[in-house]
Amino acid sequence: MDYDRNNVFARILRGEIPCKKVFEDDHVLAFHDINPQAPVHVLVIPKGAYVSFDDFSAKAAPAEVVALVRAVGAIARSLGLADPGYRILANHGRDSHQEVPHFHIHIFAGRPLGRMLERA
Ligand code: AMP
Repeated sequence: MDYDRNNVFARILRGEIPCKKVFEDDHVLAFHDINPQAPVHVLVIPKGAYVSFDDFSAKAAPAEVVALVRAVGAIARSLGLADPGYRILANHGRDSHQEVPHFHIHIFAGRPLGRMLERA
């Protein structure tokens, strides 16, 4: 799948759409989800143009991978989530219902988060 330069997160990265920013460095931007599924719902995205985890894990430079992983942990700690805990999730492709075709990691927290997956 080719990267769509007009997806909503690309537009946030270009400053064309506002976001409630939580964190930013050279490789990463994080912001609150517009339609939160938990009391805390943050999205962490690479600044590079990657469609999904599949694309990012195959093509991102080591510095981008390290920056993203470090950022997720640092954001969670800075929001006080390490205790009582949080969940991270990344959707890839049709079966996961990925909606926005720019790789993102969800951080959910702020209440007991229930089962990992719906029953089939
Ligand atoms: P996914 O289904 O994993 O692709 O998740 C996409 C997420 O992006 C959803 O949780 C949406 O609520 C969220 N989202 C879509 N548009 C925006 C936006 N403009 N700002 C913040 N979050 C957004």
